[in-house]
Amino acid sequence: MSPQPPGSHRRHRVVMIGAGFGGLAVVKGLRDQPVDVVLVDAHNFHTFQPLLYQVATAGLDVDDVAYAIRGIFRRQRNVEVRMARVTRIDADARVVYADAGPPIEYDTLVVGAGAVSTSYGVPGVDEHAFALKSAADAVAMRQHVIGRFEAAATDPSLASTGALDVVVCGGGPTGVELAGGMMELFTKVLTPDFPELDVARARVVLVEAGDRLLSAFSEASSDHAREGLTRVGVEVLTGVGVAEVTPAEVVLVDGRRIATHTVAWAAGVRAHPIAGSLGVELGRGGRILVEPDLSVRDRPEVFAIGDIAADREHPLPQVAQPAIQGGRHVARQIARRLAGQPTEPFRYVDKGSMATIGRHRAVADFPNGRRLSGFVGWVAWLGLHLVYLMGFRNRANVLVNWAWNYLTYDRGARLLTDEATSRADYRRAA
Ligand SMILES: Cc1cc2nc3c(=O)[nH]c(=O)nc-3n(C[C@H](O)[C@H](O)[C@H](O)COP(=O)(O)OP(=O)(O)OC[C@H]3O[C@@H](n4cnc5c(N)ncnc54)[C@H](O)[C@@H]3O)c2cc1C
Repeated sequence: MSPQPPGSHRRHRVVMIGAGFGGLAVVKGLRDQPVDVVLVDAHNFHTFQPLLYQVATAGLDVDDVAYAIRGIFRRQRNVEVRMARVTRIDADARVVYADAGPPIEYDTLVVGAGAVSTSYGVPGVDEHAFALKSAADAVAMRQHVIGRFEAAATDPSLASTGALDVVVCGGGPTGVELAGGMMELFTKVLTPDFPELDVARARVVLVEAGDRLLSAFSEASSDHAREGLTRVGVEVLTGVGVAEVTPAEVVLVDGRRIATHTVAWAAGVRAHPIAGSLGVELGRGGRILVEPDLSVRDRPEVFAIGDIAADREHPLPQVAQPAIQGGRHVARQIARRLAGQPTEPFRYVDKGSMATIGRHRAVADFPNGRRLSGFVGWVAWLGLHLVYLMGFRNRANVLVNWAWNYLTYDRGARLLTDEATSRADYRRAA
C-alpha cells in the first residue's frame, strides 16, 4: 500500500533516510506495523561496505556487494522506495526535502545516512586521494590502479615515478584490509597479467599516525596484523602522520616523501553532513547526539541510528552491528509508541571485531577476551560475511559464484570500462 501524498495521509508515516545496515533493519522491523514507510536513499542499491575493499582490489565486482533496494522490499507492501538525495530536514514542519520529487512529510523520521570520509584538513587529500566509502569509490580506485599498470606497460619509465606503488593512509580495519588486498592483487593478478613489468618491485605502503595498527583491537591482534602484512610484503609505517598528498607523492610529517600515483585515504570518517540540517546538538565527528532510546532530544518523533548517531554517554563505534541493532531497536520503539507504550533504552550487544590480513588470515577479538587469528580467524570472518550476504541474496548459486570469485580472482573485475576510467582519470590526472 503506497503512502498518501503529503498532507493527506491517514496512516502513520515513517520516513527512513538511508538504506544502509541501519535503515534496512528499521524498515524490515516495521513489516507488520500499521505504518506507511518511505525509504529514501541517494542510490537505488544497498552497499555491503565491509567488502568494498574486495571490489577495489578486483576480488569481487560491484554486483557481489550491492543489492537493489526495491528487490529487498519487493514483498513488503507498506514500503515505498524513493531514489533521491535528501538535501534538508525541516524538523519544525516535519518535512524532508530531496533533490528529486516533492517534499516528504513524516510523523516519525529515522536518520540513517551513515558517514563520509574526512581529510581532517590534510592538504591534497580531497583532490588527490581515493576514498573507500561507496561502490563508485571502490571501482574508481580499482580502475585507477589497473590503469596505472597499463600506462606503465606502454611507458616503462613511469614505474620509477611511483606509478605502480600504492600508499594506504590509516591503519584501522579498512586500511589494513585494503593494504592486504592490494598486495594480493599485485601478486595474484597483476604479476601474471603484466609479465613485462617488474611487479615484485611495486610497493604497498600502509601509513598509520598512531603507534599501532588496529588500535581498537587487542595488542596481540595489532601485532598479528603487522606481522601478517609485513610477511606478504606490505611496508608498515606507524607513529607518523601524513602532512600532504600531491599528484605524485605522499609527504609525511617527519619530512619523508613517498613517490606514488595512488593514495587511498582510510584515515577517518565523520557523520554525514545532513546531520547538521536537523538543527540539534551534534557530538564529536558531527554525530547526532541521541537519548538512550535513540530518539533526538526535544524531537521525540526523530530517531538517529548507525554511523550518523552517537549516544552522549557511550558513543558506539561506527561499524555495522550498532547500526543493525539500533535499527531493530528503533522499529520496536515506533511500534511501542503506536501501541501507547513508553519507549525503552537501547542495549547494545557487542559481538566483537574482525579484520582480514590478506586473503587467508584474519584477526577477531571477542568481548569475553577470546581471540582468533590466522587461518581460523579468516574462516570465522568468511563465515560471518557469508551469513550476512546470504541474508540479502539467499540463493545457493550466488554463494557458489561469490566463493569461487573470491577464492580464485577468476573473473573480469579488472576490466577498464570507459566511464569509470574517465572518473579515475578525473580524480587523478597522473
Ligand atoms: C570500506 C569499509 C569497510 C568496512 N568494514 C566493516 C567491517 O568489516 N565490519 C563492520 O562492522 N563495519 C565495517 N564498516 C562500517 C560499516 O559499513 C558502517 O558502520 C555501516 O555501514 C553503518 O551503517 P549505517 O546504516 O549507519 O550507514 P550506511 O550503511 O553507510 O548507509 C547509509 C545510507 O544512506 C544513504 N545516504 C547517504 N546520504 C544520503 C542522502 N543525503 N539522502 C539519502 N540517502 C543518503 C547512502 O546511500 C547509504 O545507503 C566498513 C565501512 C567501510 C566504508
